[in-house]
This record gives sequence, structure tokens and C-alpha cells, in this order.
Amino acid sequence: MKLTVLSDNYTYIDRYFIGEPALSFYIEEGDERILFDTGYSDSVIFNAEKMGINLSNLTTIVLSHGHNDHTRGLPYLWRKYDFHGVKLIAHPLAFMKKRYLGELIGAPFTRAECERHGMEIIDGSKPVKISERLLFLGEIQRVTAFEGKRPLGEYELDGRWTKDDLYDDSALVYEGEAGLFIITGCSHSGICNIICHACELKKTEVRADGVIGGFHLMEEDEQLEETVRFLKDHTSGKLYPCHCVSLKAKHRMMQELPVEEVGVGMELVIR
Ligand SMILES: [Zn+2]
Ligand SMILES: [Zn+2]
Repeated sequence: MKLTVLSDNYTYIDRYFIGEPALSFYIEEGDERILFDTGYSDSVIFNAEKMGINLSNLTTIVLSHGHNDHTRGLPYLWRKYDFHGVKLIAHPLAFMKKRYLGELIGAPFTRAECERHGMEIIDGSKPVKISERLLFLGEIQRVTAFEGKRPLGEYELDGRWTKDDLYDDSALVYEGEAGLFIITGCSHSGICNIICHACELKKTEVRADGVIGGFHLMEEDEQLEETVRFLKDHTSGKLYPCHCVSLKAKHRMMQELPVEEVGVGMELVIR
């Protein structure tokens, strides 16, 4: 599997890509060409073109959850590329209107609009096998005591605004030679919950060989300490926290864990 970072808050110096507070990974795995999240703007298109990545050949688009820093790039993409026949894996709640502090922060499109653009929508509330070795995890069980319990804004359900616990939040797991490699969007459900859920689906001991994506860790608090403890016990390879991880949180993790820097243009090959 080859993963290329198309959108992240950070971009490497001297490469002249566009960074934005968003996330998008391009993944080549077997015959599949996958876009995992779509960024916030058309910068994904600019960055992909500059890297020589052809997004007109996508087979699958995955939405980790509905927030617009992961979904707002999609309409820019469907204006440029023909997505008829492309699979779109998303939890039904990812299409709901979401708001936070008076601003709409959900996906700027409906499920029907995606269908009108020819995409085949696959229910992401359940696990979805993308290839022999790559699995979308579906709705994440929340098993740890210290995460996945912080609602963020509200979402609209049957015309009523309800607190949003982000049950649409999910991730991918790749079964590599060295173990399970986790690919996350924002980890609102909790990065440790995501690892536990992936291992449960794969029927393995709770252990990940590596993780890339947003861990949603900002503060130096108990959740960060518990997460560092969990990752020390249950991961063996390198960690690539990005997007929604503060410098303070990265610094704390680096004291105990093999943390690598991530930026737009980064390529990662996992065998
Ligand atoms: Zn989010
Ligand atoms: Zn995010």
C-alpha cells in the first residue's frame, strides 16, 4: 500500500504545495485507488496535479466523518472529474447537517447530490472490505474510559438539532507484513478505541504496527496521558500524528513514542 498526503495543516518546506487545516490521503492498494477524505478546498486538486497523481482514476472515496475539513473538497473534485461508478463509503450520519458555535461545519452536500454525480454510496456504519488487506472499520465501539465522550457541536436529525457525539467517525486498517496499520481522519471516536476496534475486527491481540492521521489531541490533559500510555503498550512501529494534534501533544508523545513528522507531499509505503 502506498499512501500520499494530499492535504494536511502542515506542508514540507520547498515543495510549494498548499497546506490547509484539513486532511486528505491518496492511497494505492492493489487495483484500488482511494481518496481517504477530500480536504477543505480545491487545494487537493492542486497538490495532486503537482505530485503527478491522477484523481480522475479513483475507484473509491472514503469519508472518515462528515466535518467539512474532511468533506468540503468533494464538490470541487466532482466539478472536475467524472465520478460515475466510484464507490463512496460514508456513515449515514456523515451526510447530516452539523453546526458548532453558529457555523455550519458538516458536509456541504447531501447524499442525493452524491448519487446525482454517479457515486455508488456504501453504508459506512458497518465494516467495508476495500481490498484483501484494506478494511474500512464502520462505526467505532467506544470501549476506553478516557476518550470518545466529548460531543462537538450539534447535528440535525428529523428537523431537530441534537448534540453530536460523532458516531460517523471511522478509520481504515491495513493488514501489513509487520502488523496492522491504522489510517484515521480526526479520531473523534478516540484513537485507542479505533485501534481496539480494528484489532477486534481482525481478531488479533490489541496491537497496531503504526498509525497515521488526526488523533484529536490538543490539550495536556488526562486523555493525552492515557493515550500515551495506551500507545506505548499497544503499538510497535512508527506513529504519524497530524492534522488535529497540537504541538504540545506531539511533544508529549515524542518523549515516549517514535513520532514522525507529517506534511503534504509525504509518501509512505507499507508492505
Ligand atoms: Zn472532525
Ligand atoms: Zn478534522
